[in-house]
Amino acid sequence: MEVIKGDFSQTKGIPPSGLCVGVHRAGAIHQKMVQKYGEGLTVWSLRPDLDFVAFKKDGLGEKGVRATDDLESIKGEKLIYGVRGAPPQVRKKAQEMGLELLADATCPFVTQQEEAAEELLQQGYNLVILSSRTHHGIPRLQGIAKEVGRAVFIVEKEEDVEDIRLTRFEPVGVIVQTTFWLETYKKIMSRLLDRFANVRIRNTACIDSLQRLPEVEKLAKQVDAIVIFGWTEGMTNRMLEVARTFNSNVYKIEKVEQLQAEWFRGKEKVGVIGANETPNWMVDEAVERIKSLAA
Ligand code: SF4
Repeated sequence: MEVIKGDFSQTKGIPPSGLCVGVHRAGAIHQKMVQKYGEGLTVWSLRPDLDFVAFKKDGLGEKGVRATDDLESIKGEKLIYGVRGAPPQVRKKAQEMGLELLADATCPFVTQQEEAAEELLQQGYNLVILSSRTHHGIPRLQGIAKEVGRAVFIVEKEEDVEDIRLTRFEPVGVIVQTTFWLETYKKIMSRLLDRFANVRIRNTACIDSLQRLPEVEKLAKQVDAIVIFGWTEGMTNRMLEVARTFNSNVYKIEKVEQLQAEWFRGKEKVGVIGANETPNWMVDEAVERIKSLAA
């Protein structure tokens, strides 16, 4: 059996670590802050359970820096904002509490998405987000809309367009989840254009979506079974969606130990590909484990 690893080494916009730009950059910021300030650092995060998983080999998160989503728990520690950003209400409260902000590791594509949302709201558009409802970015965007007294409509599937409580001529500003697969949303966009007369769309997909998802498609078409190695709500789920479109044997793992020999029985070619928070070394471990299960 041949095991083919999804290889991003030649893919523009994906760092050599295999992580997405945002996570790679946030890890570097956290490491720099630990080196500079030592102990007593806190990352405020929308997903504190995930912030350091990709960096466990580097020891990040074990000492010197911790992650939390509870501002009140920060007592005398210095603050860093995590890769997934922070709602305006959290930033305001941190200021009021007098917390010392050392660095903002928010992914630049998340910041761009926030700016697009703010711009549309300022221009008088009602905000429609094409995204899964449970995505961690939703409270952040709802927080931005709340600042200007507006509601947010989340559209996950075509039928949701009918539930948007706006009339045909009210302005509709559309942004998309940063981890976004255009194919899924084409139908939704066309339905939005059918229903509303004044629609402005901002494509806020990040570079990782634009580059990683075509690699998933390529690999899924090439192999008999494909393993998606990831745990992120956005990118991992998008990768599963793409892989399932082109391959009927798709498996997801969050740990190498979850690999099962029966998935690969009778298969000639198996693909393994990492999501945006899965470093290369973890994918290499999965490749070796699959080879040993097949031996
Ligand atoms: S997946 Fe995209 S938006 Fe999310 S952190 Fe990575 S680069 Fe940023």
